[in-house]
Amino acid sequence: MEEIYCQGCGVAIQTLDPNKMGFTPASSLKNEDVLCKRCFRLKHYNEIQDVSISDDQFFDMVASIQNKAGLVVHLIDIFDVNGSFIQSLPRIVGNNPIILVGNKVDLLPKSTNLQKLNQWLRSVAKEAGLKLLDVFLISSIKGHGMEELTEAIEQYRAEQNVYVVGTTNVGKSTFINQMIKQSVGVQDAITTSYFPGTTLGFIKIPLDHDTYMIDTPGIVNRRQFAHFVSPRDLKMINPKKEIKPRVYQLNEKQTLFFGGLARIDFLKGDKDSFICYFSNELPIHRTKLEKADELYANHVGEMLSPPDKDTIAQLPDLEKQTFKLKSGKTDVVFSGLGWVSVSGDNMTVNVYSPKGIPVTIRKALI
Ligand code: GDP
Repeated sequence: MEEIYCQGCGVAIQTLDPNKMGFTPASSLKNEDVLCKRCFRLKHYNEIQDVSISDDQFFDMVASIQNKAGLVVHLIDIFDVNGSFIQSLPRIVGNNPIILVGNKVDLLPKSTNLQKLNQWLRSVAKEAGLKLLDVFLISSIKGHGMEELTEAIEQYRAEQNVYVVGTTNVGKSTFINQMIKQSVGVQDAITTSYFPGTTLGFIKIPLDHDTYMIDTPGIVNRRQFAHFVSPRDLKMINPKKEIKPRVYQLNEKQTLFFGGLARIDFLKGDKDSFICYFSNELPIHRTKLEKADELYANHVGEMLSPPDKDTIAQLPDLEKQTFKLKSGKTDVVFSGLGWVSVSGDNMTVNVYSPKGIPVTIRKALI
């Protein structure tokens, strides 16, 4: 039988084992657009199915790019740079040229200096030992920056294939859908969803008669909130609209809770503005430090939510870390959730996040 690929996620279609990747009932093969059962359910019922594929398998699939010449487009989520940056990219793509694309700029406040952000991304890449041809900032949902990027890709690819790589949830499917719309006018050819790991196989979009844009499987980042919270909570955490920074004037010995998922204690320092960049729908709660532990114990899953009551058990315990900040505006980043910007002048904070989800410090982004 000729190999058929799912029009949703690009996985090879099979009709034998309903529990394995790419299954579709034989009767569906006659359809013009064949979808695997997983994409079919997602498309028609908005329902995700777990399929088993190991991280190693993922890695092998993506690493096959190494031996093929082409331009690599590394898509990252600007709201979660740390979590979406693929540290092992040089190893995965070999000597192929890379351009870095920061997606979801529509989420950042309008006042954000995009040029500064672009420079900052270049320095992050440099630190990671990644040699880049160029850096772009786009919104694949709103279309910002897409035209410029498309033109650059056309130029940089020098008539070779284009490989789009990224971790899950960066908006890779949305991005490719946009590219398809621009080139051939077909909408929603690929599954997009709130769930990481949606893009399972390679999908090829013709660029001209013999070269393609190739969507690679999303590399799973296990250190994501998405793996610990319910679908409903994930919708609340993933910002959909421009983030409205929420500002709290805090004195020392005060605490902020971000739902029940993370927390920052202002231990020591002069009164300061804590500017919070999180999904507008994530509730932030201020309290006195001395009451914080008790509040959490009694109200996580209710007042301090997400997580909702049913998924608390799934969430690893919060782990504490102490940061002593010296000088200069600093972001305390809760990977994948958001960040808090502080003056950073001689202050000490304790931060809490679920075990395994990193909290990092960076020079203020905005
Ligand atoms: P994939 O796993 O990388 O293929 O990611 P998807 O394309 O499925 O997108 C993951 C989530 O990010 C979905 O909820 C998308 O709606 C959202 N998303 C994708 N691109 C953008 C963007 O440019 N802006 C915003 N605000 N959200 C985006």
